[in-house]
Amino acid sequence: MENFKIEVDADGIALVTFDVPGRSMNTITSKVMEEIPLLVERIKTDAAIKGAVITSGKATGFCAGADLGDLGGAQSAAPVSEEAALKAGFDRSWRLQGSLRALETCGKPVAAAINGLALGGGLEITLACHYRVVGDNPKIQLGLPETKVGLFPGAGGTQRLPRLIGVQAALMQISEGKSWRPQDAKGAGVVHEVVPAGQEVEAAKAWVKTGKAVQPWDEKSFKLPGGGPYHPAGIQVFIMGNALLRKQSYGNYPALTNMLKAVYEGVQVPMDAALRIETRYFVKTLMTPQAKAMIRSLFLSKQELDKGAVRPAGVPKSEAKKVTVLGAGMMGAGIAYVQAMAGIETVLIDTTQEAADKGKEYAKGLIAKRVSRGQMTQEKADATLALITPTTDYAHVKGSDLVIEAVFENRDIKAEVTKKAEAQLAEDAVFGSNTSTLPISGLAEASVRPENFIGIHFFSPVDKMMLVEIIMGEKTGEVALAKAIDYVTKIKKTPIVVNDSRGFYTSRCFSTYLTEGMAMLKEGYAPAMIDNVGRMTGMPRGPLEMHDDVALDLSYKIGQQTAKDLGDKYVPNPGEDIVARMVSELGRYGRKNKKGFYDYPESGPKSLWAGLSDLAPVTVSESTPELVEELKTRLLYRQAVEAARCWEEGVIDDPREADVGAILGWGFAPWSGGPVTLIDQVGAAKFVETCDRLASQYGERFKVPQLLRDMAANGESFYGRFSAKAKAA
Ligand code: NAD
Repeated sequence: MENFKIEVDADGIALVTFDVPGRSMNTITSKVMEEIPLLVERIKTDAAIKGAVITSGKATGFCAGADLGDLGGAQSAAPVSEEAALKAGFDRSWRLQGSLRALETCGKPVAAAINGLALGGGLEITLACHYRVVGDNPKIQLGLPETKVGLFPGAGGTQRLPRLIGVQAALMQISEGKSWRPQDAKGAGVVHEVVPAGQEVEAAKAWVKTGKAVQPWDEKSFKLPGGGPYHPAGIQVFIMGNALLRKQSYGNYPALTNMLKAVYEGVQVPMDAALRIETRYFVKTLMTPQAKAMIRSLFLSKQELDKGAVRPAGVPKSEAKKVTVLGAGMMGAGIAYVQAMAGIETVLIDTTQEAADKGKEYAKGLIAKRVSRGQMTQEKADATLALITPTTDYAHVKGSDLVIEAVFENRDIKAEVTKKAEAQLAEDAVFGSNTSTLPISGLAEASVRPENFIGIHFFSPVDKMMLVEIIMGEKTGEVALAKAIDYVTKIKKTPIVVNDSRGFYTSRCFSTYLTEGMAMLKEGYAPAMIDNVGRMTGMPRGPLEMHDDVALDLSYKIGQQTAKDLGDKYVPNPGEDIVARMVSELGRYGRKNKKGFYDYPESGPKSLWAGLSDLAPVTVSESTPELVEELKTRLLYRQAVEAARCWEEGVIDDPREADVGAILGWGFAPWSGGPVTLIDQVGAAKFVETCDRLASQYGERFKVPQLLRDMAANGESFYGRFSAKAKAA
C-alpha cells in the first residue's frame, strides 16, 4: 500500500501511518479509497495483529477529507467537472462508509492517534475507531464541514456523531459545519483523551492493550444520549431542530433538510440500517442542483482560483517579501495584519506617527486574541508583530516589492501618495490601490509606471473576508497582474481579476440588491417584509439592513458622484430620494451613527426606525406566497442581470470568478452557486423571458444585455460557452 505504512510492534499493535505520497496534506484520493479496504482486511485477518493505531505521517494534519478535485489518482491541473466531482463524492462516501463499518466491526481494538486536523471524511475515519486520542494543540481542528459545500457527511458521520454526543449537539455541529479544538472536542465527548502533542501514538497504544473492540452503539445496552425521537426530550430536539434549520436556511439548502431526515430516521434503527438510510439521503442530496452548484463554485472553482488559475502563464512566480501599506485606517490596519500573518515585512504609513501606531495596535489586538485562544505562541506573536513598522517616513518604502494604497477615498490625496511612494520604489515594484469606487485607469494617471499600477480591492473586515478583487487599469501589464495574484495567494485569500468599471464587479452588482430594496420601499412594501424576503433569498441579511451596514451617507455620496459623472445619461434609482432625505435632512447615516432604517440602541437588538413610515408609507398590506416569490425573484435577478451586463461590457469573463467573487465578496445566495450559475440553471431563455416581464413591470433596470438574448436564442450557458475548457477548445 502506498498510502498506509504498517509496523507491528512486539505487543502485536499495528501502527498504521497514513501518508499520501507527494502531498503536503492527507486527503482521501481515489488511491486511498482503493487501499482502505485492504488495510481493514489486513487488520482483521493478520493473526499477528492484536489491535491497531491509526495516525498520520504528515506534520500538516491527520486528514482533510475527500479530495473531490482528484479523480483517477493524479492531481491534475485540468479543471474537474462538477458531474465527475459529484460521482467521486458519491463513490468515496459510499465506499468509505462500508470500509469504516468493516473497521469498527473487525473484532480488534482500533484507536485513532489524531496528530493534526481531521475534517470531513478525515474525522469520519476516526469516528469509526473505538478510541480517539488527540494532541493538545489548539491549532488542530476537528469537524464535519460538508454542509458548507451543499453536502453532508456521508461516511457514517450523521449516524456516529449523534450516537456519541447526542442528537442536538450533533445537529448543530453538522448544520453549521463548525469545528472543535481538541479541548472542546473532549468536552463535547467527540474524543476520549487529549494528550501533550507528540504523545498521541503512545497514549493510543496504551489504550489498545486493554481496549474493547466494540463501538458503544453495537452494544445491546446502548442508549442514545439525550434520547431519540420517541423520548420526550428527544422529540423536542427534532421539533426545535426542524424549526431552527428552517430559520437558518429558509429551505434553500436541501442538504440540511436531508441531513435532518437521515439523523431522525437513522437513530431509530441499528447501525447497519442507519448507514443505508444515510446513503439514501446522501444520494438524494447529491442529485440536487444546489449541491452541484455549491460544489462547483465553493469547492472546485475556489480551489482553482486559489491555485492561481487566472494568473497569466509564462510570467515567473514572484514572492512579495516587503510590502508598504499607505494609510493605517480601518482597511490599512487590517491589510497590515494579514500581511504580517503571512510573514511579509510590512511598512505601515500614515500622516502622523500616532495614526500609524494606531494601525499597528489593531493588528496587535487581533494577534493577542490568537495568543489568548492558544492559537499562537507569545514568541510567534512577538515575531509577527515585529514585522510591522509604523511610520510617517516614506524612506522606509525603499525595497518594497509592492505598495498597497488605502488612504482616504480622494483622487488628489491618492495621487499625492502615489508620487511620494513611487519616488522610493524600484522600477519593477507594483503599486496597488484599494479604492472602492475610483476608476483605476484614472488613478494610474498619477503614476509614472501605469503598467505597474493595479487595483487590489480588499473587503471589510480584511481579516475575515476571503476575497480580493484585482482590477486591471487600461495600461496595467501582465507582470503586475501576476505579481498581484501571487501576493493575494500568499496572504491566503482568493483572487478574482476584473476590468475597470464604475464599482468594478462586486460593488456594482451588490449595490443593485440595495437599490432593489429601495425600489420596494418606494412601492409601499413594509420594511420588515422587504428584509425578511431578502433573507429568504439566501442573502446574509435583508437589503435595508445591509444598506445600513454599508452606510447611507456613502451610498448617497456615490449616487451624487455617479449622477455628476454621467450627466444626462444618469437614470435615478427608485427610492434614492428617501436615502437623500435621511442623510442630508435627518443625519441618518446607518449603523455607523446608530441611526438608519433601523435604530441601534446601546444595549438590546436593533428596531425599525418609526419615522420611516412617514418617508415611505406602507401601502401594500397583503403578503401572499406569490408576492413573496415575486419579490425574491426581483432581488436575485436584479443582481444576476447586472453580472450579465458586467460580462457583456468585458468587466468579467470567467464564470468561476463571477460566481466565487459574488459569494465570497458580497454574500450572494451561496445555495445558488453564484449569479452566473443561477442564470445557467434557470436557463438563459427562461431567465430572459422573466427579466423582460420584470422590465416591463418595474423598469429598464431589468433589461437584459444582448449577450443573454443571443445565448437564449442559441440554447447556450455561461459555463458551456465561456468555461476554461470551452475557451481552450
Ligand atoms: P479610513 O478613513 O479608516 O482610513 C484612511 C487612512 O488614511 C486614515 O488613517 C488617514 O489618516 C490615512 N491618510 C489620509 N491621507 C493620508 C496620506 N496623505 N498619507 C498617508 N495616510 C493618509 O478609511 P478606510 O475605510 O480604511 O478606507 C481606505 C481606502 O480603502 C479607501 O480608498 C476606501 O474606499 C477603500 N476601501 C474601504 C472599504 C471599507 O469597507 N471601509 C472597503 C474596500 C476599500
